[in-house]
Amino acid sequence: MQTNLADFIRNTPDGDEADAILRSCVHCGFCTATCPTYQLLGDELDGPRGRIYLIKQVLEGAPVTAKTQQHLDRCLTCRNCETTCPSGVKYSRLVDIGRKVVEQRVTRPFMERMQRLLVRETVSRKALFGTALALGRIARPLLSPALQDKIPLRQSAGAWPTRSHARKMWVLDGCAQPAMAPNINSATARVLDALGVQLLVAPRAGCCGALRHHLNEHEAALDDMRRNIDAWWPALHDGSVEAIVMTASGCGATVKDYGHLLAHDAAYADKAQRVSAATRDLSEILEEFIAVLPTRTRLSERVAYHPPCTLQHGQQIRGKVEAVLRAVGVEVVLCGDSHLCCGSAGSYSLLQPELSVQLRDRKLAHLAETGATTIVSANVGCSAHLQSGTDTPVLHWIELIDRALA
Ligand code: SF4
Ligand code: SF4
Repeated sequence: MQTNLADFIRNTPDGDEADAILRSCVHCGFCTATCPTYQLLGDELDGPRGRIYLIKQVLEGAPVTAKTQQHLDRCLTCRNCETTCPSGVKYSRLVDIGRKVVEQRVTRPFMERMQRLLVRETVSRKALFGTALALGRIARPLLSPALQDKIPLRQSAGAWPTRSHARKMWVLDGCAQPAMAPNINSATARVLDALGVQLLVAPRAGCCGALRHHLNEHEAALDDMRRNIDAWWPALHDGSVEAIVMTASGCGATVKDYGHLLAHDAAYADKAQRVSAATRDLSEILEEFIAVLPTRTRLSERVAYHPPCTLQHGQQIRGKVEAVLRAVGVEVVLCGDSHLCCGSAGSYSLLQPELSVQLRDRKLAHLAETGATTIVSANVGCSAHLQSGTDTPVLHWIELIDRALA
């Protein structure tokens, strides 16, 4: 695609990156068919090719309107289009740049700004989010059924192992997950303990930065990333910790991108590269232990696995979770549209509730067709979103491995 970027962005890091991405798109439209928002809305401008064209116009200096912003807001950043694209177009990087420019040009209505501020500053702060969720649980009976569904039930974390092992790994505690589903990380710690690995939480690490990044607070997101690098760096640098384990694939996709996002920060660029290189999704860690997992477990249930977009498209990891579950005797099935987003997409379910619920219900209908009695996923946001629309239990897959090893 030919480009002629406007002066305001030409020869800047964002401009150079956007220019290269735009030029790699041959406008074939293959990506359109696999875009969830195009499938729902049937509008070319709510599909990847149309959004790429909109961003091109914006970067070439065309007027920017609230309509442009709406088409970009409706994108889930699921990156399904990247998996489909035969030309390797890095759509997610382009949409980040496009959204940043549009945000500077279009003033959102007051209520929308307040909503985004509330989501950003509450969900990304572990203690504040924990308090808000606890209050929400108390007030649950007074809320509308739709709001009640959004509040996950209280969960016990179980015991965190106390044994020490020579092999040690960090785990990201994150922001929302400890309050929503504390058993995920403690189940991970128990499983890895049984396999001879000690899991540690760096007290000063927190939100991975994805939430602020996707809400166009790029500088604040970079500060989140620098804080996490500072928290992990000493033990990673001296070799006492060998890896950083991600139990939420959304966080994993972001931390694996620290190297790129901090590439222009002289003080952090090298450390960010090292941190990204040491970051592993939990399924990548467990894959190493498949041969020693017990095969004769009493887990005979049929389980439907929903692979999060941040795992299958963002990190391009496929098949590993299924392989680990099958290794302990779990019958795992995927639903027909397993490549499509469930509508959770980080803060999307809060900011675009109508589209999000349509995608959720479509996904749940396909998952129900599998006949599975349990649903598992690999990202707390997807699990909570799916659970808000079904009585079928939705777990993190490591919780099944924890049961198998118990
Ligand atoms: S992003 Fe890829 S698949 Fe989509 S129109 Fe461009 S080249 Fe074709
Ligand atoms: S990231 Fe997902 S929603 Fe956005 S354009 Fe690509 S396929 Fe569509």
